[in-house]
Amino acid sequence: MKHIALLGSTGSIGTSTLDVVSQHPEEFSVVAMAAGSNVDLLAEQVKKFRPELVSVGNEQGAAALKERLGGFVRPEIVYGAEGLELVARHESANFVMTAIVGSVGVAPTLAAIEAGKTIGLANKETLVSAGPVVMRAAREKGVAIIPVDSEHSAVFQCLQGERKDDVARILLTASGGSFRHASRKELQDVTVAQALAHPNWSMGAKITIDSATMMNKGFEVIEAHWLFDLPYEQIDCILHYESIIHSMVEYRDKAVMAQLGTPDMRVAIQYALSYPGRMDLATEPLDLVKLGTLHFAAMDFERYPLLQLAYECGKAGGTYTAVLNAANEVAVDLFLKGAIRFLEIEEIVRKTCEAHRGVRVPTLEDIFSADEWARSQALELYTVGL
Ligand code: NAD
Ligand code: MG
Repeated sequence: MKHIALLGSTGSIGTSTLDVVSQHPEEFSVVAMAAGSNVDLLAEQVKKFRPELVSVGNEQGAAALKERLGGFVRPEIVYGAEGLELVARHESANFVMTAIVGSVGVAPTLAAIEAGKTIGLANKETLVSAGPVVMRAAREKGVAIIPVDSEHSAVFQCLQGERKDDVARILLTASGGSFRHASRKELQDVTVAQALAHPNWSMGAKITIDSATMMNKGFEVIEAHWLFDLPYEQIDCILHYESIIHSMVEYRDKAVMAQLGTPDMRVAIQYALSYPGRMDLATEPLDLVKLGTLHFAAMDFERYPLLQLAYECGKAGGTYTAVLNAANEVAVDLFLKGAIRFLEIEEIVRKTCEAHRGVRVPTLEDIFSADEWARSQALELYTVGL
């Protein structure tokens, strides 16, 4: 039986995780959950899943949740960064699903590793920001980090039963996001609403913008580097418009293993929970005949400079990827608020990375201070003008 602590229960991955849990009440239970500010949905979730411990974004949220729950359901209620860590360490959990967004996921993920929990890793910013520290901690504690990002789940599935030395390269597929058919010139005037309309996946706002800038694929390259312990030279990206092939592994004999399916994150979420086995899942089966054709194109690094930058930061290593991530979090937030234009996301991120003087073998403190530095640098670029 998996007793799950779910970080980010009200988000896209969080609600899909709860759906998977509902499909297998005998196998999975939610013993702790954390969310930000959506107290209404959180209250519904608490009533349905009856966790022992719940964390909310802040103190007011905690009071509001208590009121919504009334007298019948009474979990312990905590809040803030400390609350997140308490959920991640919760005694009766043996599996922690990290589905919050941003590098705020680093500390609770490390807390969960410290407490010996198996990690289902959806929060990609954790490895982008703190890959060396998190992977070292997991190794030392003997904790498994199971990928939930669809590309990494695909690679993980393709690697089962194989030897790492036989891997020639990983091929991450990219849908191209909301503006895949737009030229760079057309990108100058795109709106937030247009950027939020992803052709294949329904996801949280931040990752949807990251998909449109291709920052998301850059993060996934870095995530793959840490998860599968491969050099960047062995991680490639290819455009694949339908999001049916979720990623591939090419072996030394040129055999290519791919994982396919209709785009539904519940497959990857459930695989992380059922690994090494599989379970039934109520979702659309793949109908290749109906699809008829799949389309591919070479990745265009000039069209998507943030992907190029991600490779450069990844190869530079150290604190560079933490800076890449933090600057991007600030820039995407500014874009979503309507404060900057779409292409200014790239500019803020690039200029922040260029201004960084990195630490090559960082401690957790180095990473946190690089993250903080990058946030203020990115904000300053916005304030004084690009
Ligand atoms: P989302 O915005 O839909 O949900 C984020 C969740 O985190 C919400 O429940 C929110 O309340 C919670 N949260 C945010 N900040 C918090 C804080 N400080 N304290 C407590 N809770 C907080 O995001 P999402 O699309 O579900 O993505 C979650 C993570 O999974 C991201 O790192 C994303 O890159 C990754 N991911 C998502 C998808 C997808 O299909 N949505 C696919 C692959 C990877
Ligand atoms: Mg992905």
